[in-house]
Amino acid sequence: MRVCPVNAIDYDKKIDELNIINERCIACGACLTECPETAISYQDSIEKVKRLLSEERPVFIVCDTDISAEFTDISDYRKFVSMLKALGFKKVFSSALAVDLVAAQYKKLLNEEFKGKYYLSANCPVVVNLVEKYYPHLVGNLAPILSPDLLAAKMIREQFKKVDIALVYLTPCLAHKQEVVRDAGRSKYDAVLLFPEIRKLFTEKHIQERQVEFFDFDGLEGQKGLLYPIGNGILQAGDISESLLDGNIRSTNGMQNVMKAIGSFDMQNEILHSHLNLFFCEGCVMGPGTMRDYSNKFVRSANVVDYAKKRLANFDEEEWLANLDEWKDLDTQASFSPKTVPTFDDLKYQLLMKKADQKNIVLTDSQSQIDEANYRVFQAKQSLSAVINQVSGGIVIVDSEMKIVEANNSLIVTIGEEAAAVSEVIPGLAGASLETILDKTIINFFDYTLRHNDHVDRKEVNINGTPLFLSVFNIQEHKLVGGIFRQMRSQKFDTDELVLAIQKTIDKNLTMVQEIGFILGESATNTEKDLNQLIKTLKQDE
Ligand code: SF4
Ligand code: SF4
Repeated sequence: MRVCPVNAIDYDKKIDELNIINERCIACGACLTECPETAISYQDSIEKVKRLLSEERPVFIVCDTDISAEFTDISDYRKFVSMLKALGFKKVFSSALAVDLVAAQYKKLLNEEFKGKYYLSANCPVVVNLVEKYYPHLVGNLAPILSPDLLAAKMIREQFKKVDIALVYLTPCLAHKQEVVRDAGRSKYDAVLLFPEIRKLFTEKHIQERQVEFFDFDGLEGQKGLLYPIGNGILQAGDISESLLDGNIRSTNGMQNVMKAIGSFDMQNEILHSHLNLFFCEGCVMGPGTMRDYSNKFVRSANVVDYAKKRLANFDEEEWLANLDEWKDLDTQASFSPKTVPTFDDLKYQLLMKKADQKNIVLTDSQSQIDEANYRVFQAKQSLSAVINQVSGGIVIVDSEMKIVEANNSLIVTIGEEAAAVSEVIPGLAGASLETILDKTIINFFDYTLRHNDHVDRKEVNINGTPLFLSVFNIQEHKLVGGIFRQMRSQKFDTDELVLAIQKTIDKNLTMVQEIGFILGESATNTEKDLNQLIKTLKQDE
Protein backbone atom coordinates (compact mmCIF):
# COMPACT_ATOMS: atom_id res chain seq x y z
CA MET A 1 0.00 0.00 0.00
CA ARG A 2 2.86 2.39 0.78
CA VAL A 3 4.26 1.94 -2.68
CA CYS A 4 1.23 3.67 -4.22
CA PRO A 5 2.13 7.32 -4.87
CA VAL A 6 -1.48 8.52 -4.66
CA ASN A 7 -2.94 6.38 -1.90
CA ALA A 8 -5.26 4.46 -4.20
CA ILE A 9 -5.19 1.09 -2.47
CA ASP A 10 -7.72 0.16 0.18
CA TYR A 11 -7.15 -2.71 2.57
CA ASP A 12 -10.24 -4.53 3.77
CA LYS A 13 -9.23 -6.01 7.11
CA LYS A 14 -12.37 -8.13 7.38
CA ILE A 15 -11.57 -10.20 4.32
CA ASP A 16 -7.81 -9.50 4.19
CA GLU A 17 -8.09 -8.12 0.69
CA LEU A 18 -6.48 -5.24 -1.21
CA ASN A 19 -8.70 -3.16 -3.46
CA ILE A 20 -7.56 -0.62 -6.00
CA ILE A 21 -9.78 2.44 -6.13
CA ASN A 22 -9.96 3.10 -9.86
CA GLU A 23 -11.05 6.71 -9.50
CA ARG A 24 -7.92 7.46 -7.45
CA CYS A 25 -5.50 5.20 -9.32
CA ILE A 26 -3.18 6.68 -11.97
CA ALA A 27 -2.33 3.26 -13.45
CA CYS A 28 1.40 3.59 -12.80
CA GLY A 29 1.79 -0.12 -12.11
CA ALA A 30 4.08 0.44 -9.11
CA CYS A 31 1.95 -1.89 -6.98
CA LEU A 32 2.12 -4.52 -9.68
CA THR A 33 5.89 -4.46 -9.95
CA GLU A 34 6.65 -3.95 -6.26
CA CYS A 35 4.14 -6.29 -4.63
CA PRO A 36 6.19 -9.23 -3.30
CA GLU A 37 3.17 -11.49 -3.05
CA THR A 38 1.70 -10.78 -6.48
CA ALA A 39 -1.51 -9.84 -4.69
CA ILE A 40 -2.14 -7.31 -7.44
CA SER A 41 -2.87 -8.31 -11.01
CA TYR A 42 -3.97 -6.52 -14.16
CA GLN A 43 -6.79 -7.22 -16.56
CA ASP A 44 -5.56 -9.86 -18.93
CA SER A 45 -6.43 -9.23 -22.60
CA ILE A 46 -5.33 -12.59 -23.96
CA GLU A 47 -8.84 -14.06 -24.25
CA LYS A 48 -10.11 -10.89 -25.87
CA VAL A 49 -7.34 -10.96 -28.47
CA LYS A 50 -7.98 -14.63 -29.17
CA ARG A 51 -11.63 -13.78 -29.75
CA LEU A 52 -10.68 -10.97 -32.12
CA LEU A 53 -8.37 -13.28 -34.04
CA SER A 54 -11.16 -15.79 -34.46
CA GLU A 55 -13.45 -13.20 -36.05
CA GLU A 56 -13.66 -12.63 -39.78
CA ARG A 57 -12.44 -9.06 -39.85
CA PRO A 58 -8.68 -8.56 -40.16
CA VAL A 59 -6.76 -7.87 -36.94
CA PHE A 60 -3.73 -5.54 -37.12
CA ILE A 61 -1.16 -5.05 -34.38
CA VAL A 62 1.01 -2.00 -33.60
CA CYS A 63 4.30 -2.68 -31.81
CA ASP A 64 5.60 -0.15 -29.31
CA THR A 65 9.20 0.86 -30.05
CA ASP A 66 10.19 -0.77 -26.76
CA ILE A 67 10.13 -4.23 -28.39
CA SER A 68 13.82 -3.59 -29.13
CA ALA A 69 14.58 -3.60 -25.39
CA GLU A 70 12.33 -6.52 -24.54
CA PHE A 71 12.58 -9.21 -27.19
CA THR A 72 16.33 -9.55 -27.34
CA ASP A 73 15.91 -13.32 -27.07
CA ILE A 74 14.58 -13.24 -30.64
CA SER A 75 17.51 -12.85 -33.01
CA ASP A 76 15.97 -10.51 -35.60
CA TYR A 77 13.02 -8.10 -35.46
CA ARG A 78 11.77 -9.58 -38.75
CA LYS A 79 11.40 -12.96 -37.02
CA PHE A 80 9.40 -11.24 -34.32
CA VAL A 81 7.11 -9.70 -36.96
CA SER A 82 6.68 -13.15 -38.51
CA MET A 83 5.80 -14.69 -35.16
CA LEU A 84 3.04 -12.11 -34.74
CA LYS A 85 1.75 -12.98 -38.20
CA ALA A 86 1.84 -16.65 -37.24
CA LEU A 87 -0.49 -15.79 -34.37
CA GLY A 88 -2.99 -14.51 -36.92
CA PHE A 89 -2.32 -10.76 -37.14
CA LYS A 90 -2.83 -9.73 -40.76
CA LYS A 91 -0.60 -6.68 -40.57
CA VAL A 92 2.13 -5.66 -38.15
CA PHE A 93 3.09 -2.01 -37.72
CA SER A 94 5.76 -0.12 -35.81
CA SER A 95 4.83 2.97 -33.78
CA ALA A 96 8.12 4.74 -34.65
CA LEU A 97 6.75 6.98 -37.42
CA ALA A 98 4.02 8.17 -35.03
CA VAL A 99 6.78 9.07 -32.55
CA ASP A 100 8.57 11.08 -35.26
CA LEU A 101 5.34 12.95 -36.04
CA VAL A 102 4.60 13.62 -32.38
CA ALA A 103 8.19 14.77 -31.83
CA ALA A 104 7.86 17.25 -34.71
CA GLN A 105 4.67 18.62 -33.13
CA TYR A 106 6.46 19.09 -29.83
CA LYS A 107 9.26 20.97 -31.53
CA LYS A 108 6.70 23.29 -33.09
CA LEU A 109 4.80 23.88 -29.85
CA LEU A 110 7.74 24.17 -27.45
CA ASN A 111 10.30 25.94 -29.64
CA GLU A 112 9.09 27.39 -32.90
CA GLU A 113 5.74 28.72 -31.64
CA PHE A 114 6.79 29.32 -28.02
CA LYS A 115 4.97 32.31 -26.56
CA GLY A 116 6.00 32.15 -22.92
CA LYS A 117 3.71 29.33 -21.78
CA TYR A 118 5.47 26.27 -20.43
CA TYR A 119 4.16 22.76 -21.00
CA LEU A 120 4.30 19.31 -19.45
CA SER A 121 4.71 16.55 -22.01
CA ALA A 122 1.62 14.37 -22.35
CA ASN A 123 3.10 11.23 -23.85
CA CYS A 124 3.08 9.20 -20.65
CA PRO A 125 -0.54 8.38 -19.71
CA VAL A 126 0.40 8.13 -16.04
CA VAL A 127 1.64 11.72 -16.05
CA VAL A 128 -1.62 12.74 -17.72
CA ASN A 129 -3.64 10.84 -15.09
CA LEU A 130 -1.61 12.41 -12.29
CA VAL A 131 -2.21 15.93 -13.57
CA GLU A 132 -5.90 15.41 -14.35
CA LYS A 133 -6.61 13.89 -10.94
CA TYR A 134 -4.18 15.53 -8.53
CA TYR A 135 -3.11 18.78 -10.23
CA PRO A 136 -6.33 19.70 -12.07
CA HIS A 137 -5.26 23.36 -12.25
CA LEU A 138 -2.32 22.28 -14.44
CA VAL A 139 -4.45 20.51 -17.07
CA GLY A 140 -4.06 23.53 -19.37
CA ASN A 141 -0.28 23.02 -19.24
CA LEU A 142 -0.42 19.49 -20.66
CA ALA A 143 0.86 19.64 -24.23
CA PRO A 144 -2.28 19.24 -26.40
CA ILE A 145 -0.70 16.61 -28.65
CA LEU A 146 -1.78 12.96 -29.04
CA SER A 147 0.64 10.39 -27.64
CA PRO A 148 2.42 8.19 -30.25
CA ASP A 149 0.33 5.10 -29.51
CA LEU A 150 -2.94 6.95 -30.06
CA LEU A 151 -1.61 8.72 -33.13
CA ALA A 152 -0.48 5.39 -34.63
CA ALA A 153 -4.03 4.03 -34.21
CA LYS A 154 -5.45 7.12 -35.87
CA MET A 155 -3.03 6.81 -38.80
CA ILE A 156 -3.89 3.15 -39.40
CA ARG A 157 -7.63 3.71 -39.11
CA GLU A 158 -7.27 6.58 -41.57
CA GLN A 159 -5.23 4.49 -43.98
CA PHE A 160 -7.72 1.60 -43.84
CA LYS A 161 -10.86 3.65 -43.40
CA LYS A 162 -12.81 1.56 -45.89
CA VAL A 163 -12.07 -1.70 -44.09
CA ASP A 164 -13.57 -2.92 -40.83
CA ILE A 165 -10.42 -3.76 -38.86
CA ALA A 166 -9.64 -4.65 -35.28
CA LEU A 167 -6.54 -3.03 -33.83
CA VAL A 168 -4.30 -4.29 -31.02
CA TYR A 169 -1.42 -2.45 -29.32
CA LEU A 170 1.60 -4.28 -27.96
CA THR A 171 3.21 -2.26 -25.18
CA PRO A 172 5.29 -2.23 -21.99
CA CYS A 173 2.80 0.22 -20.47
CA LEU A 174 0.02 -0.83 -18.10
CA ALA A 175 -1.61 2.60 -18.37
CA HIS A 176 -2.11 2.11 -22.11
CA LYS A 177 -4.75 -0.49 -21.25
CA GLN A 178 -6.77 2.27 -19.66
CA GLU A 179 -5.71 5.10 -22.00
CA VAL A 180 -7.08 3.42 -25.11
CA VAL A 181 -10.42 2.90 -23.43
CA ARG A 182 -10.82 6.59 -22.69
CA ASP A 183 -9.66 7.75 -26.12
CA ALA A 184 -12.21 6.19 -28.39
CA GLY A 185 -12.97 7.38 -31.92
CA ARG A 186 -10.26 7.27 -34.54
CA SER A 187 -7.55 6.55 -31.95
CA LYS A 188 -9.28 3.46 -30.65
CA TYR A 189 -7.59 0.13 -30.05
CA ASP A 190 -9.75 -2.94 -29.57
CA ALA A 191 -7.29 -4.49 -27.14
CA VAL A 192 -3.92 -3.84 -25.55
CA LEU A 193 -1.38 -6.57 -24.86
CA LEU A 194 1.55 -6.26 -22.49
CA PHE A 195 4.80 -8.01 -23.34
CA PRO A 196 4.24 -10.97 -20.95
CA GLU A 197 0.84 -11.53 -22.55
CA ILE A 198 2.27 -11.87 -26.07
CA ARG A 199 4.89 -14.25 -24.71
CA LYS A 200 2.11 -16.38 -23.22
CA LEU A 201 0.35 -16.41 -26.59
CA PHE A 202 3.54 -17.49 -28.37
CA THR A 203 3.97 -20.31 -25.85
CA GLU A 204 0.34 -21.39 -25.99
CA LYS A 205 0.36 -21.53 -29.80
CA HIS A 206 3.84 -23.12 -29.89
CA ILE A 207 5.26 -20.33 -32.04
CA GLN A 208 9.05 -20.17 -32.09
CA GLU A 209 11.40 -18.14 -34.24
CA ARG A 210 13.02 -21.18 -35.87
CA GLN A 211 9.69 -22.02 -37.52
CA VAL A 212 9.25 -18.67 -39.27
CA GLU A 213 10.90 -16.65 -42.03
CA PHE A 214 11.82 -12.99 -42.06
CA PHE A 215 8.98 -10.59 -42.53
CA ASP A 216 9.22 -6.81 -42.40
CA PHE A 217 6.83 -4.35 -40.77
CA ASP A 218 3.84 -3.43 -42.90
CA GLY A 219 4.47 0.26 -42.35
CA LEU A 220 4.82 3.26 -40.02
CA GLU A 221 8.54 2.75 -39.60
CA GLY A 222 10.26 5.82 -38.29
CA GLN A 223 13.68 7.31 -37.81
CA LYS A 224 14.90 8.54 -34.42
CA GLY A 225 11.46 7.72 -33.02
CA LEU A 226 13.06 4.33 -32.38
CA LEU A 227 14.72 5.94 -29.35
CA TYR A 228 11.38 6.69 -27.69
CA PRO A 229 11.64 4.07 -24.89
CA ILE A 230 14.57 5.99 -23.38
CA GLY A 231 13.31 8.96 -21.35
CA ASN A 232 14.60 11.77 -23.57
CA GLY A 233 14.39 9.77 -26.82
CA ILE A 234 11.42 11.78 -28.04
CA LEU A 235 13.41 15.00 -27.73
CA GLN A 236 16.20 13.50 -29.83
CA ALA A 237 13.60 12.38 -32.34
CA GLY A 238 12.36 15.96 -32.64
CA ASP A 239 15.83 17.55 -32.50
CA ILE A 240 14.65 19.48 -29.43
CA SER A 241 17.61 20.89 -27.54
CA GLU A 242 18.06 20.11 -23.86
CA SER A 243 20.98 22.50 -23.65
CA LEU A 244 21.06 24.13 -20.22
CA LEU A 245 21.98 27.47 -21.75
CA ASP A 246 20.00 27.57 -24.99
CA GLY A 247 17.26 24.97 -24.49
CA ASN A 248 13.93 25.44 -22.72
CA ILE A 249 13.07 21.88 -21.71
CA ARG A 250 14.21 19.42 -19.06
CA SER A 251 13.67 15.69 -18.97
CA THR A 252 13.18 13.56 -15.94
CA ASN A 253 11.78 10.12 -15.29
CA GLY A 254 11.01 7.74 -12.46
CA MET A 255 8.19 8.10 -9.93
CA GLN A 256 9.95 10.20 -7.30
CA ASN A 257 11.56 12.57 -9.79
CA VAL A 258 8.34 13.10 -11.72
CA MET A 259 6.35 13.82 -8.55
CA LYS A 260 8.94 16.38 -7.47
CA ALA A 261 9.22 17.90 -10.94
CA ILE A 262 5.45 18.44 -11.24
CA GLY A 263 5.42 19.94 -7.74
CA SER A 264 8.15 22.40 -8.73
CA PHE A 265 6.44 23.17 -12.02
CA ASP A 266 3.35 23.99 -9.97
CA MET A 267 4.99 26.04 -7.25
CA GLN A 268 8.10 27.47 -8.87
CA ASN A 269 7.31 27.73 -12.55
CA GLU A 270 8.52 31.32 -12.66
CA ILE A 271 11.92 30.09 -11.54
CA LEU A 272 12.02 26.91 -13.62
CA HIS A 273 11.45 28.70 -16.93
CA SER A 274 11.23 25.32 -18.54
CA HIS A 275 8.98 22.78 -20.22
CA LEU A 276 9.15 19.32 -18.66
CA ASN A 277 9.48 16.07 -20.57
CA LEU A 278 8.22 13.48 -18.10
CA PHE A 279 7.96 9.70 -18.01
CA PHE A 280 6.70 8.06 -14.83
CA CYS A 281 8.85 4.93 -15.16
CA GLU A 282 12.60 5.09 -15.67
CA GLY A 283 11.75 5.46 -19.34
CA CYS A 284 9.36 3.04 -21.06
CA VAL A 285 12.26 0.58 -21.14
CA MET A 286 11.30 -0.04 -17.52
CA GLY A 287 7.54 -0.06 -18.02
CA PRO A 288 5.49 -2.31 -15.74
CA GLY A 289 4.47 -4.49 -18.68
CA THR A 290 8.03 -5.63 -19.39
CA MET A 291 9.77 -8.69 -18.03
CA ARG A 292 10.34 -7.97 -14.38
CA ASP A 293 14.07 -7.63 -14.36
CA TYR A 294 14.53 -4.22 -12.90
CA SER A 295 18.29 -4.34 -12.59
CA ASN A 296 18.98 -3.66 -16.21
CA LYS A 297 17.74 -0.22 -17.23
CA PHE A 298 21.07 0.56 -18.84
CA VAL A 299 21.28 -2.73 -20.68
CA ARG A 300 17.74 -2.30 -21.93
CA SER A 301 18.52 1.25 -23.08
CA ALA A 302 21.67 -0.01 -24.80
CA ASN A 303 19.54 -2.57 -26.67
CA VAL A 304 17.26 0.23 -27.88
CA VAL A 305 20.24 2.27 -29.13
CA ASP A 306 21.86 -0.74 -30.81
CA TYR A 307 18.65 -1.59 -32.61
CA ALA A 308 18.17 2.04 -33.73
CA LYS A 309 21.77 2.17 -35.03
CA LYS A 310 21.28 -1.02 -37.02
CA ARG A 311 17.96 0.08 -38.49
CA LEU A 312 19.25 3.55 -39.36
CA ALA A 313 22.50 2.35 -40.97
CA ASN A 314 20.85 2.06 -44.39
CA PHE A 315 18.08 4.49 -43.72
CA ASP A 316 16.18 5.86 -46.69
CA GLU A 317 15.70 9.47 -45.59
CA GLU A 318 13.80 10.46 -48.72
CA GLU A 319 11.20 7.78 -48.22
CA TRP A 320 10.86 8.73 -44.56
CA LEU A 321 10.36 12.41 -45.45
CA ALA A 322 7.73 11.40 -48.00
CA ASN A 323 5.98 9.33 -45.32
CA LEU A 324 6.00 12.26 -42.91
CA ASP A 325 4.65 14.50 -45.63
CA GLU A 326 1.79 12.11 -46.26
CA TRP A 327 0.55 12.66 -42.70
CA LYS A 328 1.22 16.38 -42.39
CA ASP A 329 -2.49 17.30 -42.38
CA LEU A 330 -3.58 14.70 -39.86
CA ASP A 331 -5.14 16.24 -36.75
CA THR A 332 -2.83 15.45 -33.81
CA GLN A 333 -4.75 17.51 -31.26
CA ALA A 334 -5.41 15.95 -27.84
CA SER A 335 -7.58 17.29 -25.05
CA PHE A 336 -7.55 16.71 -21.31
CA SER A 337 -9.93 17.49 -18.49
CA PRO A 338 -9.72 17.75 -14.69
CA LYS A 339 -11.09 14.77 -12.78
CA THR A 340 -12.60 14.62 -9.32
CA VAL A 341 -10.86 12.21 -7.00
CA PRO A 342 -13.12 10.64 -4.37
CA THR A 343 -11.85 9.88 -0.89
CA PHE A 344 -12.15 6.53 0.81
CA ASP A 345 -14.98 7.79 3.00
CA ASP A 346 -16.75 9.07 -0.07
CA LEU A 347 -16.52 5.67 -1.68
CA LYS A 348 -17.60 3.86 1.46
CA TYR A 349 -20.64 6.08 1.69
CA GLN A 350 -21.50 5.45 -1.97
CA LEU A 351 -21.26 1.72 -1.31
CA LEU A 352 -23.51 2.05 1.73
CA MET A 353 -26.10 3.99 -0.27
CA LYS A 354 -25.90 1.49 -3.11
CA LYS A 355 -26.51 -1.38 -0.75
CA ALA A 356 -29.43 0.49 0.83
CA ASP A 357 -30.82 1.15 -2.64
CA GLN A 358 -30.48 -2.48 -3.63
CA LYS A 359 -32.28 -3.59 -0.49
CA ASN A 360 -34.86 -0.85 -0.99
CA ILE A 361 -34.14 0.58 2.44
CA VAL A 362 -35.55 4.05 3.02
CA LEU A 363 -33.32 6.14 5.26
CA THR A 364 -35.89 7.51 7.64
CA ASP A 365 -34.74 6.41 11.08
CA SER A 366 -32.70 8.80 13.18
CA GLN A 367 -29.45 6.85 12.90
CA SER A 368 -29.65 7.06 9.12
CA GLN A 369 -30.28 10.77 9.31
CA ILE A 370 -27.20 11.23 11.43
CA ASP A 371 -25.18 9.11 8.99
CA GLU A 372 -26.50 11.17 6.14
CA ALA A 373 -25.73 14.43 7.91
CA ASN A 374 -22.25 13.28 8.89
CA TYR A 375 -21.60 12.34 5.35
CA ARG A 376 -22.76 15.68 4.08
CA VAL A 377 -20.53 17.53 6.51
CA PHE A 378 -17.76 15.37 5.27
CA GLN A 379 -18.67 16.12 1.67
CA ALA A 380 -18.57 19.85 2.37
CA LYS A 381 -15.07 19.45 3.78
CA GLN A 382 -14.16 17.53 0.66
CA SER A 383 -15.37 20.39 -1.49
CA LEU A 384 -13.14 22.77 0.47
CA SER A 385 -10.27 20.37 -0.02
CA ALA A 386 -10.96 20.17 -3.75
CA VAL A 387 -10.98 23.96 -3.97
CA ILE A 388 -7.70 24.50 -2.19
CA ASN A 389 -6.08 21.83 -4.32
CA GLN A 390 -6.99 23.78 -7.44
CA VAL A 391 -5.02 26.81 -6.31
CA SER A 392 -1.58 27.35 -7.80
CA GLY A 393 0.10 28.10 -4.50
CA GLY A 394 0.61 26.30 -1.20
CA ILE A 395 -2.31 26.54 1.21
CA VAL A 396 -2.67 25.31 4.76
CA ILE A 397 -5.59 25.76 7.17
CA VAL A 398 -4.92 25.29 10.91
CA ASP A 399 -7.01 25.35 14.08
CA SER A 400 -6.36 27.13 17.39
CA GLU A 401 -4.05 24.32 18.52
CA MET A 402 -1.93 24.64 15.39
CA LYS A 403 -3.28 21.35 14.11
CA ILE A 404 -3.64 21.15 10.35
CA VAL A 405 -7.23 20.99 9.13
CA GLU A 406 -6.20 20.75 5.50
CA ALA A 407 -3.12 21.37 3.35
CA ASN A 408 -3.01 21.25 -0.42
CA ASN A 409 -0.70 19.14 -2.60
CA SER A 410 1.41 22.12 -3.66
CA LEU A 411 2.37 22.87 -0.09
CA ILE A 412 3.10 19.23 0.69
CA VAL A 413 5.44 19.01 -2.30
CA THR A 414 7.23 22.23 -1.32
CA ILE A 415 7.79 21.11 2.24
CA GLY A 416 9.42 17.94 0.96
CA GLU A 417 9.63 14.22 1.44
CA GLU A 418 8.80 14.16 5.15
CA ALA A 419 5.47 15.90 4.60
CA ALA A 420 4.78 13.72 1.56
CA ALA A 421 5.37 10.61 3.69
CA VAL A 422 2.98 11.91 6.40
CA SER A 423 0.35 12.81 3.79
CA GLU A 424 0.49 9.27 2.44
CA VAL A 425 -0.85 8.12 5.79
CA ILE A 426 -2.92 11.21 6.63
CA PRO A 427 -4.30 12.73 3.41
CA GLY A 428 -4.00 16.53 3.43
CA LEU A 429 -1.91 16.22 6.65
CA ALA A 430 -5.19 16.58 8.58
CA GLY A 431 -4.53 16.44 12.31
CA ALA A 432 -0.74 16.81 12.03
CA SER A 433 0.85 19.60 14.05
CA LEU A 434 2.02 22.57 11.99
CA GLU A 435 5.10 22.66 14.19
CA THR A 436 6.28 19.30 12.89
CA ILE A 437 6.51 20.52 9.32
CA LEU A 438 7.28 24.27 9.41
CA ASP A 439 9.86 26.50 11.14
CA LYS A 440 9.06 28.44 14.28
CA THR A 441 9.43 31.77 12.42
CA ILE A 442 6.65 30.77 10.03
CA ILE A 443 4.46 29.38 12.82
CA ASN A 444 4.69 32.76 14.59
CA PHE A 445 2.73 34.39 11.77
CA PHE A 446 -0.09 31.88 12.18
CA ASP A 447 0.03 32.34 15.93
CA TYR A 448 -0.16 36.13 15.52
CA THR A 449 -3.28 35.92 13.32
CA LEU A 450 -4.94 33.46 15.68
CA ARG A 451 -4.30 35.57 18.76
CA HIS A 452 -4.85 39.05 17.31
CA ASN A 453 -7.48 38.24 14.74
CA ASP A 454 -5.36 40.25 12.32
CA HIS A 455 -4.02 39.45 8.84
CA VAL A 456 -0.39 38.94 7.91
CA ASP A 457 0.41 40.18 4.41
CA ARG A 458 3.17 39.02 2.05
CA LYS A 459 5.88 38.19 4.55
CA GLU A 460 9.07 36.77 3.11
CA VAL A 461 9.67 33.21 4.31
CA ASN A 462 11.84 30.32 3.25
CA ILE A 463 10.78 26.69 2.89
CA ASN A 464 13.47 24.18 1.97
CA GLY A 465 15.57 26.90 0.35
CA THR A 466 12.61 28.25 -1.62
CA PRO A 467 11.90 31.93 -0.93
CA LEU A 468 8.14 32.55 -0.81
CA PHE A 469 5.61 35.17 0.24
CA LEU A 470 3.29 34.13 3.06
CA SER A 471 -0.11 35.68 3.81
CA VAL A 472 -2.10 34.47 6.80
CA PHE A 473 -5.81 35.21 7.11
CA ASN A 474 -8.67 34.55 9.46
CA ILE A 475 -11.37 32.05 8.68
CA GLN A 476 -13.02 31.85 12.12
CA GLU A 477 -11.94 34.30 14.79
CA HIS A 478 -9.36 32.75 17.14
CA LYS A 479 -10.35 29.32 15.88
CA LEU A 480 -9.31 28.78 12.29
CA VAL A 481 -6.69 30.50 10.12
CA GLY A 482 -5.39 29.87 6.64
CA GLY A 483 -2.01 30.59 5.11
CA ILE A 484 -1.11 30.99 1.44
CA PHE A 485 2.46 30.56 0.24
CA ARG A 486 3.17 32.13 -3.14
CA GLN A 487 6.17 32.48 -5.36
CA MET A 488 8.06 35.71 -4.78
CA ARG A 489 8.21 36.40 -8.48
CA SER A 490 4.48 36.14 -8.99
CA GLN A 491 3.31 39.66 -9.71
CA LYS A 492 -0.11 39.27 -8.27
CA PHE A 493 -1.94 36.29 -6.85
CA ASP A 494 -4.82 35.32 -9.08
CA THR A 495 -7.48 35.40 -6.42
CA ASP A 496 -10.24 35.69 -9.02
CA GLU A 497 -9.64 32.09 -9.97
CA LEU A 498 -9.78 30.98 -6.34
CA VAL A 499 -12.72 33.15 -5.39
CA LEU A 500 -14.67 31.83 -8.34
CA ALA A 501 -13.88 28.25 -7.45
CA ILE A 502 -14.91 28.76 -3.83
CA GLN A 503 -18.04 30.60 -4.90
CA LYS A 504 -18.97 27.63 -7.03
CA THR A 505 -18.33 25.31 -4.10
CA ILE A 506 -20.63 27.38 -1.92
CA ASP A 507 -23.38 27.45 -4.53
CA LYS A 508 -23.11 23.73 -4.87
CA ASN A 509 -23.11 23.12 -1.16
CA LEU A 510 -25.45 25.80 0.08
CA THR A 511 -28.61 23.69 0.14
CA MET A 512 -26.66 20.79 1.50
CA VAL A 513 -25.13 22.84 4.32
CA GLN A 514 -28.51 24.32 5.21
CA GLU A 515 -29.86 20.80 5.50
CA ILE A 516 -26.94 19.91 7.72
CA GLY A 517 -27.70 22.92 9.84
CA PHE A 518 -31.24 21.70 10.20
CA ILE A 519 -30.15 18.25 11.22
CA LEU A 520 -27.05 18.94 13.26
CA GLY A 521 -27.45 22.53 14.36
CA GLU A 522 -24.96 25.37 14.51
CA SER A 523 -21.67 23.47 14.18
CA ALA A 524 -22.39 22.17 10.72
CA THR A 525 -23.28 25.55 9.24
CA ASN A 526 -19.80 26.72 10.10
CA THR A 527 -18.60 25.14 6.88
CA GLU A 528 -20.57 27.68 4.93
CA LYS A 529 -19.22 30.45 7.15
CA ASP A 530 -15.70 29.18 6.63
CA LEU A 531 -16.06 29.30 2.90
CA ASN A 532 -17.65 32.75 2.88
CA GLN A 533 -14.99 34.11 5.20
CA LEU A 534 -12.30 32.65 2.99
CA ILE A 535 -13.68 34.52 0.00
CA LYS A 536 -13.97 37.76 1.95
CA THR A 537 -10.46 37.50 3.25
CA LEU A 538 -8.97 36.73 -0.12
CA LYS A 539 -10.77 39.63 -1.69
CA GLN A 540 -9.27 41.91 0.94
CA ASP A 541 -5.91 40.33 0.34
CA GLU A 542 -5.98 41.13 -3.37
S1 SF4 B 1 -1.32 1.29 -10.28
FE1 SF4 B 1 -0.15 2.92 -9.23
S2 SF4 B 1 -1.70 4.40 -8.64
FE2 SF4 B 1 -2.81 2.52 -9.12
S3 SF4 B 1 -2.99 1.46 -7.16
FE3 SF4 B 1 -1.12 0.68 -8.14
S4 SF4 B 1 0.51 1.97 -7.30
FE4 SF4 B 1 -1.43 3.04 -6.90
S1 SF4 C 1 6.98 5.69 -18.66
FE1 SF4 C 1 6.25 4.58 -20.45
S2 SF4 C 1 5.70 2.56 -19.71
FE2 SF4 C 1 5.88 3.88 -17.92
S3 SF4 C 1 3.84 4.62 -17.55
FE3 SF4 C 1 4.81 6.15 -18.84
S4 SF4 C 1 4.32 5.58 -20.94
FE4 SF4 C 1 3.85 3.82 -19.63
